[in-house]
Amino acid sequence: MSTYVFGHTSPDSDSIVGAISLSYLKNQLGEDCVPTRQGKISAETEFILNKFGGEVPELKTTYAGEEVYLIDFSDYGQAPEDIKEATILGIVDHHKLGDIITSTPLECWIRPIGCSNTVVYEMYKSYDVEIPKNIAGMMMMAILSDTVIFKSPTCTKVDTKAVKELAKIAGIEDYKALGMEMFIVKSAVDGATGRELNTRDYKPFDMNGNKIGVNQLEMIDISALDDKKEMIFEDMKKMKEEEGLHTMMVLLTDIMKEGSQMLVVSDDPSKIENGLNVKLENNEAWLDGVLSRKKQIIPFIQPQF
Ligand code: MG
Ligand code: MG
Ligand code: MG
Repeated sequence: MSTYVFGHTSPDSDSIVGAISLSYLKNQLGEDCVPTRQGKISAETEFILNKFGGEVPELKTTYAGEEVYLIDFSDYGQAPEDIKEATILGIVDHHKLGDIITSTPLECWIRPIGCSNTVVYEMYKSYDVEIPKNIAGMMMMAILSDTVIFKSPTCTKVDTKAVKELAKIAGIEDYKALGMEMFIVKSAVDGATGRELNTRDYKPFDMNGNKIGVNQLEMIDISALDDKKEMIFEDMKKMKEEEGLHTMMVLLTDIMKEGSQMLVVSDDPSKIENGLNVKLENNEAWLDGVLSRKKQIIPFIQPQF
């Protein structure tokens, strides 16, 4: 029986590439692992897989009775619905510890660094397993994505060092240029619906019984969304209803201006204002220097609940 390795819902490149890179490592160590995914891959991830000849992991949303490794999350809100009926063999992550608990001992690799693939990279080193060229390329791209080409406050020396070493293995000289190319692909919004935009990088959080949904769009230039804002707000209201959210937030992150325009639809916007120490105007605020949801948003909102 194979063990499945997968990342969070609304999978990003770290979740997809992490499933691939961790499965390969585990297979080298004699386990029988298969990478899977919980949802559709993004244009950014497609770009990475095409560039380095990676296969799209199989879509799998139920895991009852299976053995699994989780990568890039440890929250029930981002897990398959039947996760409690699966046996979690391990977690590899770089987020706050979530609410998932296990009934058996597990392997845990969680570090406060820029990317789960950096953690996987450290695992390869500690097991002395060689990283194949194509997997190295994909891991490098996942780290460049999660760290916003090293600009995110979540980025550490461990991440930059990993990128440099992975770039060597992958034979990529100008990794920053390739990273920019990836963010240009990620920035495409033409023809996208409100729902498509609002679920691109969506994460629900349980804050003391209140459901807070936070979507983030990382773009080269967020002014491309100026004429789509109304549509985004309309859909945020719908999502709030459908998902039973206390707050639906969208972060339009401008990676060149290095800040985020925050859009909020909430039962109590003052909680968001107080947590982040900002004043909303027409349900919006510019957050200068804010690039990271996990480090600069969630820890400040959570105590309000
Ligand atoms: Mg992720
Ligand atoms: Mg990640
Ligand atoms: Mg991200």
